[in-house]
Amino acid sequence: MRKNIVAGNWKMNTTLAEGVKLAEDVNKALENVDAKCDVVICVPFTHLASVNGVINADKLGLGAENCADHKSGAYTGEVSAPMVASTGAKYVILGHSERRQYYGETSEILKEKVNLALENNLTPIFCIGEVLEQREDGSYLEVVKSQIEEALFELSAEDFGKLILAYEPVWAIGTGKTATDDQAQEMHAHIRGVIAEKYGKEVADNTSILYGGSCKPSNAKALFAKPDVDGGLIGGASLDAESFMGIVTAF
Ligand code: PEP
Repeated sequence: MRKNIVAGNWKMNTTLAEGVKLAEDVNKALENVDAKCDVVICVPFTHLASVNGVINADKLGLGAENCADHKSGAYTGEVSAPMVASTGAKYVILGHSERRQYYGETSEILKEKVNLALENNLTPIFCIGEVLEQREDGSYLEVVKSQIEEALFELSAEDFGKLILAYEPVWAIGTGKTATDDQAQEMHAHIRGVIAEKYGKEVADNTSILYGGSCKPSNAKALFAKPDVDGGLIGGASLDAESFMGIVTAF
């Protein structure tokens, strides 16, 4: 079912002690607020088990920022979907533009990761989005359509229905430059249309599509007011409990 969701992506930030403290602060803040959305924090692998021990899972979901494209074996340094699931995490960010750009993650690799995440009952938060050049040359709608088709369209309708999508224009990530609410709405409606064409209107209507890219307390309300924007994937502003909560309470 389509839900409003605010998810934090801590990226490669915080020591274990700092991360546990941040999770405790968010958890505590949520105890005092009637949140109108699901709230999730996606944290470094090293923090997952400890963070799971200090949060109230009924109020705050936990996710990883990535998982391997293999189940187990000789892949030194990798962390598999079963390993992530064994920590108590329920979500995993996949296809983040930083993974695509710096670690060469292709749609073929992402397909494997999505399958393994689903097999292990992890909800993928699957990221898509165009770079600045594609925004400027007008190909951005086509680019995002291809990203969805290439990585996700071999899924059954049932499995597709388990995904959360996050539209993250790469030019807006960590740059302080947010997409306008109209730009976000145009893309989110387009994404919903692409899903509807393949899986039908019901699946499309039930898919949560988050916006990510320099979302902060000051712009979250206008973005979340758009009919096809179902929440946010939050990078920088999720590293401070107060600013993260400022976005959570924008709903
Ligand atoms: C992200 O990396 O998912 C993100 C949205 O980052 P930021 O909010 O810092 O732009």
